[in-house]
Formats: sequence, C-alpha cells, structure tokens
Amino acid sequence: MDRSNQLPIDRYSRRFSWPVSVGGVSIGGDSPVKVQSMTSTSTMDTDGSVAQIERIVNAGGDIVRLTAQGVREAANLAQIKAELKFHGVDVPLVADIHFNPKAAFEAALHVDKVRINPGNFVDPGRTFKRLEYTDEEYAAEQQRIARTLVPFLELCRENQTAVRVGVNHGSLSDRIMSRYGDTPAGMVESAMEYLRIALDNNFKDIVISIKASNTVVMVETVRLLVKAMDAEKMHFPLHLGVTEAGDGDDGRIKSAVGIGSLLADGIGDTIRVSLSEEPECEIPVAQSLLKHVTEAGFLPDYLRELVDQRTNIDEAIIAVTADGVSIDESYFVAQSNDINQIGSIVAVIAEARANNERRPIIARLVYNGCSVDDVKLFAASDAGRLLLNNLVDGIWIESDLLSCSQLRQLELDVLQAARCRFSKTEFISCPSCGRTLFDLQSTVKEVKASLSHLKGLKIAVMGCIVNGPGEMADADYGYVGAAAGKVSLYRGKECVVKNIERTEALGQMIELLKRDGKWQDA
Ligand code: SF4
Repeated sequence: MDRSNQLPIDRYSRRFSWPVSVGGVSIGGDSPVKVQSMTSTSTMDTDGSVAQIERIVNAGGDIVRLTAQGVREAANLAQIKAELKFHGVDVPLVADIHFNPKAAFEAALHVDKVRINPGNFVDPGRTFKRLEYTDEEYAAEQQRIARTLVPFLELCRENQTAVRVGVNHGSLSDRIMSRYGDTPAGMVESAMEYLRIALDNNFKDIVISIKASNTVVMVETVRLLVKAMDAEKMHFPLHLGVTEAGDGDDGRIKSAVGIGSLLADGIGDTIRVSLSEEPECEIPVAQSLLKHVTEAGFLPDYLRELVDQRTNIDEAIIAVTADGVSIDESYFVAQSNDINQIGSIVAVIAEARANNERRPIIARLVYNGCSVDDVKLFAASDAGRLLLNNLVDGIWIESDLLSCSQLRQLELDVLQAARCRFSKTEFISCPSCGRTLFDLQSTVKEVKASLSHLKGLKIAVMGCIVNGPGEMADADYGYVGAAAGKVSLYRGKECVVKNIERTEALGQMIELLKRDGKWQDA
C-alpha cells in the first residue's frame, strides 16, 4: 500500500527521476514526496522498536529506518518486521549500515531498503591522515569497492530490496579526501563512484542522499550532484535532509532552510527532518514544510541568473527590523501579503534587477492566519531560499501571532540557519538512533542551557563515537558518546578528553573552553 501524503504536485515542477519501489511505496517518478523518520531504540529491542515505528506510522510517516550496526541487529530486523505484520502495520523498513558490509548483506534479506555509506561501506574507517594514492592505486581501490558492492547489489536484486547510497559531509573516506578534500565535489564523487558501478551492472533501484548539517554545503552539494547525474544521464531519486539539525526551533528552522530551498528547486523525492526529539515529532514538521513549498511553487530557472547579484549593504546580511533599521526610501522592499507569497516576491525582485535596481533589496514576508509553528517553518523555508540564492540583502518577517521580540529572534535564527550571520552559539546535535550511548534529548537541553551564550562557537552533541566525530563536520567542539555512560570531548577533530563519566562531561567541557580562552560569562 502506498502511504503517500497525497499532496498536489501540479503547481510544483519536480526534477525528473526514475521511480524506485521500496516495499510497495514508490519514491521518485510521478509519486508525491515521501516523508521518513528513523527509530532511536536499540534494534535488538524488538518491542520498543515496534512501538516506536507504530508511533511514526500513526503520525503519517511513509518509511522508517533503523540502525543495524552488526549482523545480530540486521538479523533482528526480520523479527521486527514480523511483529509489525502481526500488529497490522505495513510500512517499508530501511536498514542503516556503516562500516559493516556483512550487516548490509544480512539486512538485504529482511528489509525493503538498505542504506549504505560510500564513505565506509568498503573503504576502511577514516584515520583523518593525508594519504597519497597513485592513479593505479586509486583505480585498484575502486575495483576493490566493486568486488563487494556488485555481489551486494545482486543479493538486493534477488530479494527486491532497494538501496540508498547515503553520503554524509564529514564521513568521506580517506581515499576520496586524498583527491577532493572534504568538499562538495568529494561528496558528489563519493556517490557517483557507486552509482556508476550500479548502472554498469544494470541496477537502478537506488535512492541517493547527500547530507550535511551546514545548509549552504548541503544545498550546494545536492545541486552539484544533480548536475553530475544529468551529465551522465542518471536520474536516481533523491532523499533530502539536513543532518544533526538539532532540536526545537533551531532544528526546524535549519531543516526548513535546507530542505525547503531544494524542494523549491524541484529537487527531492523523499525527505527527513532530523530532530533531536522523539522521531514521530519529525513527521508533522516534514509534512507542513512539504505542503507549504508545494503550494508556494518552485523557483523558476531564469531566476537563477540573479544569483550573486546581491548588492550587500555591509559585509553582513541584515535582518532589518531586528537591527532597529527603519525602512525608508533608501531600501527596495519586495513584499506580498499572501502566505504563499514567495513566487510574487521573487518576481518583484526579478523585475527590480532587470531595471538595474541598486538599492539594497529587502524581502518583507507576512504570515497572518497560520499557527506560530507554521510561521516559523514557512518563513525559514521562504527566506532560506531567497538567502541561499543570494537574491536579497535583508529579511523582514511579520505575523499577527508573534510578538516583536519573537519576530526579531526568528529573523536572526533564519539568518544563522542560512549561514549569513551568527548571533548565538551554533548547536549541532544528532537525532539519535540505536547506537546512541546516552539520553540525547536531555543532554542536548543541558548543554544548550550552559553554553548557548557563546556566540560564534559551533558545539556538537553526538550520540556515538562511530559516526559522531566525522559527522559533526565543522564543529569547533564536540561532546560525543564514547561508551555506555561515557563521553569523550573533542576540539575540532581531535579527541582531547577521553572516556569520562557523563555526569562530569559538561563541567569538563566548560573547563576546556576556559583553557582555550573561549569562555564568556553569561
Ligand atoms: S551520531 Fe547519533 S544518529 Fe549518528 S549513528 Fe551515532 S548515535 Fe546514531
């Protein structure tokens, strides 16, 4: 059964993609965009996982992913699937695999899709050392990938199991890093190597994702991937997400900026809003965002010519009203009073540019008549697409439901999420999964309560040491689960305090920041 959201797609011109069936649910092609989430339970906890999956499905989730760190967890997916069937829950399951091809082979027998990470499926774990490869050595490494990947794809073909090739910023292999660095081009090549091998073997049941916690990197990389695929006549469907987006307003706003901008391009066949909260909380956010972008319409191609034509008042982008700037005739204001206003605002900006408007352009976005949560989500999505396309110099958000101070905070939060201007600590936190080694939600709250005044710093809270250090990408400091009840602290990619009790970790993080001269009193 296709549990699609049945959203209209007629006003929304999507990139052409090959349809992929995942347990009977179609991703790509003409199908509506699907919404997914991921469990945070242990995959060995069958009852807990089944209960959480039911909550995700009841919230409207179309597809559910579970981590399978080893063969034991991968095998238990069969039990979880059987229990769900017994409870009458029919939802496609996806296994999430890192560093363990054997677990991928086992999972392919039981679930509808297996996610593999090209950064660690065959390539060994990162050493973060600079390795040198001759062309021959590099080609030999690619052949080594094919020797594991091709039999895996054959097994998936036999079992009608789809595959997700999921690249994450910060988890590229040393081999890819040696040629491309930790760059959008490296992330794209990491995916393209796998896609070429799959097509050479006539395997097309693949969905791709390229994620980052930095919205600018995420959007730039996905656009680059689409160009690279188009150049090689590949049309695999795309899964979108901002990784480690965090919780609360920050997580929602960051996701809306990144995912919303790409959806507005017509890119994206399935999405996940990753929040450091209960997984079922992600679904209504994703649905609301999807509905808004779909109804607001996409960004026409000709407007991309306007990119980089921002006039720039100062070095920084401004949130006009947050700065107390009064808008007079020295600004050009593009505005509309309709919630689905973004199309008309973009048209006004296009006309102004065509008329050689040189005044700073401010987008005035008005959201009356929708809930407070929707104002934040819609404004982030609309302003995000204007900011990430460099179309405006400032944003001005209005709503009858938010106070002046709430609106000003929203403007600043959107600018930070679009990486235009930083006004508070940037928190990066994973959504948690079956690998998480502490109570992530309460830890994120504790860390935020103590460190949120450190403007300009990027601080990560990651649930496990397997993926955490890599995927916190460009964080300045990291608080990472090292073992049950134990935490390690990182300065950039360097582990500086190892395996301390979780109860001591926040205090030691503050000491570390003081030693590094990064601490300020609140
Ligand atoms: S970093 Fe978080 S979400 Fe990612 S694998 Fe580790 S615990 Fe799971």
